[in-house]
Amino acid sequence: MNEDSESRIEAGTVVYDPRSDKVGEYRGNAGPYALLRPVSGGREWEARPESLRPATAEERLSAEVRAVNRRSSTPGYPALEAPAPEPVPGCTACAEFAAQRAGAEARCDASAATDAHVLLRRHLRRDHWGTHPRRTFRFVPYLITQDDTAEPEYEAYCVSGEEADCGAASGPCASPAAVEEWQRGHTRDTRHVRYRRSFTDYAVLEPEGTRRS
Ligand SMILES: [Zn+2]
Ligand SMILES: [Zn+2]
Repeated sequence: MNEDSESRIEAGTVVYDPRSDKVGEYRGNAGPYALLRPVSGGREWEARPESLRPATAEERLSAEVRAVNRRSSTPGYPALEAPAPEPVPGCTACAEFAAQRAGAEARCDASAATDAHVLLRRHLRRDHWGTHPRRTFRFVPYLITQDDTAEPEYEAYCVSGEEADCGAASGPCASPAAVEEWQRGHTRDTRHVRYRRSFTDYAVLEPEGTRRS
């Protein structure tokens, strides 16, 4: 990269460093060097700015998978070994990972299949399964973390009806199962079959670095 394109790299961009053959988050410049940090956090390293290019989707994916695997072998995180996860019907994210996995299996690409498998499992754990570990989204320079002092809320709202929505609502529930139970009851009573569902949680921002040990 020349001076012009280098100045266009924004902090937080994930780039590929050919010298170390690693993918890292661009943090800024230190003298003549670019400071990169592993996607999963950890010690920064110096790279030659002119050799950097934005990481491809595939490179970012495999760096993320390695990070997930590393965390999963850390105490406090559930292990990933379990039966092959099943996509949840109707969920586009699930469908995407399942299609990725099926495509990789069709190509006999075992490592891509494993990647898709790991990402599907993580998505299931985060977005579908009951008690999940706290969700953590990376956001430079703050970490956004689910606030576990406040329970997430699930809610359904009946949008059946020709001219106007029926409007019946479950009210905030503590679990998806409670919402489904309410939907079944409402459908039994009214034959209404269409609902809008929502999920609400609370998040806190913590300056990065305060959580590192
Ligand atoms: Zn899903
Ligand atoms: Zn209704």
